[in-house]
Amino acid sequence: MTSSVDWFRRAQDVLPGGVNSPVRACRGVGCDPLFIGSARGSRMRTVDGQELIDFVLSWGPMILGHCDPEVIEAARAAVERGSSYGAPCPGEVELAEAVRRLMPGMEMMRMVSSGTEATMSALRLARGFTGRDKLIKFDGCYHGHSDAFLASAGSGLATLSIPGTPGVPADVVAHTLIAPYNDLEAVEDLFNRHGREIACVIVEPAAGNMGLVPPEPGFLEGLRALCTRFGALLIFDEVITGFRLSLGGAQARYGVRPDLTTLGKIIGGGFPVGCFGGRREIMEHVAPVGAVYQAGTLSGNPAAMAAGLATLRRLEACDYDALERRTLAFARDLKSVLEEKGLPVQMNHVASIFTLFFTKTPVTDFDTAKTMDTEAYATFFRQMREAGVNLAPSGYECTFTSFAHTEEDFAATLDAARRVRF
Ligand code: PMP
Repeated sequence: MTSSVDWFRRAQDVLPGGVNSPVRACRGVGCDPLFIGSARGSRMRTVDGQELIDFVLSWGPMILGHCDPEVIEAARAAVERGSSYGAPCPGEVELAEAVRRLMPGMEMMRMVSSGTEATMSALRLARGFTGRDKLIKFDGCYHGHSDAFLASAGSGLATLSIPGTPGVPADVVAHTLIAPYNDLEAVEDLFNRHGREIACVIVEPAAGNMGLVPPEPGFLEGLRALCTRFGALLIFDEVITGFRLSLGGAQARYGVRPDLTTLGKIIGGGFPVGCFGGRREIMEHVAPVGAVYQAGTLSGNPAAMAAGLATLRRLEACDYDALERRTLAFARDLKSVLEEKGLPVQMNHVASIFTLFFTKTPVTDFDTAKTMDTEAYATFFRQMREAGVNLAPSGYECTFTSFAHTEEDFAATLDAARRVRF
């Protein structure tokens, strides 16, 4: 049997860092990744034979748990009819209709193959539709790895941005304006200074990429009002929150309708799918109806569409309120276990997502998230993994639960946490 250690050695020879997405390398928590052989329900099994209770869930998509029989069967049946046509197929229409039924703001949409593609395309569309170039994003929000979004704020509030990575030319992010999350005044200030040049505001309606940071009351409503006042488009990046915060996503939960929405993760049922959509009047600017070019060889892939549709159908019969209550109770119990060990812990929770930040400072934006004790989190991660619990390999991530998690999973996780030594 080839072990995780052996696979990782081979992987590092052919894949940078041995991985195809950086955080998986587990460098932030000071250990090597485990290689997964299979997964079912709430559990994953490593190639070494260790079983892990999984709270990462492929970074969110597996809300039904791994290998849901109906989803797998739908994908299998689709693959047997052909894995890619490069021509329209019924599954694309069926999935789009299902999305619109659950999220009425998605009057029209286009399927793509990742969240990155969805946000990148939505930005191009917002610029094409408004004829403006600038965008506002929030410090600590992640919208995939396309150039315009890879900007970090300079010091001080709402400054012009600089590239967050080599390879992004400064003039590409010169149009990216950055404000602190939950800071409506900073956004208003940017609009007052650049109002008629701003094409869009893009926001994670509950932020999930600095750990979970929910919107404060009035924040999303305020963004909506500012965008309307200045003729900019409001884009909700619901790649994480779509079909997770509620069946209708964050927009249904918070009662704020964006102009455009980006989706990913759950909509693909574990397959590579993204989607952007919104008001018909805007979406009709997308080629071939309109002039804004956007395309994809594998977009609307039949197996991925079938998995996504089966997932949404299954979710319509699921009890989101019950999962939310169970998740909240579990998060509170886990927080108590950690506090009994003398750790300061802040808990942010929405629906089936939570983050326990190891800090005494309430976390409302990226600056407060950065007060966390990352060393303590790394210690926690390593010992939990040793004990059979898979948490996110970074404190700046979410803990996800699924409809497949049982009370036994939660109890076993709490037991493991009780044994951790800091
Ligand atoms: N938007 C958000 C809010 C995300 O969390 C992510 C990925 N975690 C993306 C966009 C990019 O999605 P992908 O990794 O599928 O490209």
